[in-house]
Amino acid sequence: MKSADYQDVIAPYRGKFRAGVIFGPPGAGKGTIASTLCTHGKMLHCSTGDILRQIPSSSPIKKKLKSYMDRGDFPPDELVLGIWRRYLDGLVSSNQFDPQNQLIVLDGIPRNIHQVEILKQHVDIEWVLSLEIDDVDPIVDRLRKRATIEGRLDDADPDVIKNRFDVYRKQTEPVLAALDPSIIHRVNGLQKPFEVLRDVLQELAPVL
Ligand code: ADP
Repeated sequence: MKSADYQDVIAPYRGKFRAGVIFGPPGAGKGTIASTLCTHGKMLHCSTGDILRQIPSSSPIKKKLKSYMDRGDFPPDELVLGIWRRYLDGLVSSNQFDPQNQLIVLDGIPRNIHQVEILKQHVDIEWVLSLEIDDVDPIVDRLRKRATIEGRLDDADPDVIKNRFDVYRKQTEPVLAALDPSIIHRVNGLQKPFEVLRDVLQELAPVL
C-alpha cells in the first residue's frame, strides 16, 4: 500500500449517509419500530433522544441540554445536529457503522424545518415512515408507563407532556410536508404493536 492509500482508509467519512426517517409524535412508537427494523445488520438505529440522554451528566453541555429537554423543548438545532454528527463520526471511525453499506434509521430527527435543511447536507433520505396518531389520549398513557420503566422526567410530568405535544404540532408536524411525498409511507400507529409492525413491514419491504 502506498501512503496515499492509507489516507483513504483513515480519512474521516465525507460522503452523505443513506437514511430512512421514522416520523411521529412523542410516544408514537418510533424507537420500538426503529430498533426492530435494525435487528437487520444493514441498518443502524440512530435516536437523537438517546444520543442526548447518554451524554454524561458531568459534562457541562449536558446541563445546557437538560434545561431544554426537561421542559420538553428543543435545544438549539446547531448544537443537536453537531452532537448527532460527532456521534456518527465516532461510530464510523470505531468501525461500528459502515456508511458505504449501511443505512441509518433516524428516530427523532428532523424535528423542525430548520433541521431538515441542515440534515440534507449530511444525508440522502431514501424513505420516510410516518406513524400516524389521530388521538393523543392513548399515547399520553404510553408515555406515563414509559416514565416508570425508563425513569424519564419528561415522560412523568403532565405539563411537560402537554408542552411536547404543543411543540410537536407547531414545529415538527410541518416537517412531513417539507419532505418528498413520493417517499412517505403512512401506518396507523394506534394499532396493537404487532399490527403496527406488520403494516410497517408491508409498507417498507419494497424499499428496504
Ligand atoms: P419523544 O419522541 O418521545 O419525545 P425522544 O427521546 O425522541 O422522545 O426526545 C426526547 C427529547 O430530546 C425531546 O423532547 C427534545 O428535548 C430532545 N430531542 C430529541 N431529538 C431532538 C432533535 N432532533 N432536536 C432537538 N431536540 C431533540
